[in-house]
Amino acid sequence: MTPPLLSKRIASLPKAELHLHLEGSIQPATVCALTARHGVAVTEEEVGRRYAYSSFLEFIDAFKWVTSFLREPQDYALIARDLAEHLLTQRVVYAEVTLSIGVMLLKKQRPEANFEALLRATESFESRGLRFRWVFDAARQFGADRAMQVVESVKRCNSKAIVAFGIGGDELSVPTEEFRLVYDRAAQIGLHRLMHAGEVGGPEKIREAIELLSAERIGHGIAAINDPELMDLLAERKIPLEICPTSNVKTAALARQLRRVDARIEHHPLPKLLRHGIPIALSTDDPAMFHTTLQEEYANAARMGLQEDELTRIVEMGFEHAFQPADERRGA
Ligand SMILES: [Zn+2]
Repeated sequence: MTPPLLSKRIASLPKAELHLHLEGSIQPATVCALTARHGVAVTEEEVGRRYAYSSFLEFIDAFKWVTSFLREPQDYALIARDLAEHLLTQRVVYAEVTLSIGVMLLKKQRPEANFEALLRATESFESRGLRFRWVFDAARQFGADRAMQVVESVKRCNSKAIVAFGIGGDELSVPTEEFRLVYDRAAQIGLHRLMHAGEVGGPEKIREAIELLSAERIGHGIAAINDPELMDLLAERKIPLEICPTSNVKTAALARQLRRVDARIEHHPLPKLLRHGIPIALSTDDPAMFHTTLQEEYANAARMGLQEDELTRIVEMGFEHAFQPADERRGA
């Protein structure tokens, strides 16, 4: 009999997850409940078909479809509770969850109303051992002015639970330098700075995020594998890469960075990046939309050849690189 990929010990360790989008975490059954709230009958099979892609742009289309049903604060409360229940099954005790505030603003919603609803929905999970912190996210392709509005909305929400500002979306759209003032402002109001970079873009996008925007963690960053000097810099400055293996396979970002169409999870550069001394925050990105879980990503890391001590180290790093005060860190 082949032994399980993941030891019981690793599976049972409390974990932190740092790269996780709320809107990408809506399980098919919850999508059906959500669309029904708005008078649209959708089957789980149909959601399954929508949740299948062969490129990053097809994934973005599915993301747009599901978020089109997030119309009022109670919708956010529903999906936040759903995510919380899911994380408890994964031994997650701390999660930094990204909210697409840029999309809310585009739809002329009030982020503060949505945020208050999801904050109320998730606060009760603290007594069950799960703590949330929040990342306000702008979509890169919407430009710098809209990103600045996302930063400003943080002040209106007025909550210490909002720990960071980040940018995701189409990495190849607006040039990095256009966001300088936005990141300066984010720092000024006490937010940590994140950026998706080097997912489908080249290593220069990662460098720019660090040098021009002072990004403290990089979303994905797998393009670093193509730039040895950048790998040195990430290791020396201890800048974590938030690595989401299944996401990279399903969006074809991995195939693009490795320049091989048949790229599989076993080809992921995670072991090489880790063994180079780069901190890693192992995550799921959009677990429902990519049909994955955090435990499954640890199993994937084992599939790549990582050993028990290396997997343990990754669990620890999830807490070490979290944006919460050191005295609140579990496992620190
Ligand atoms: Zn992401």
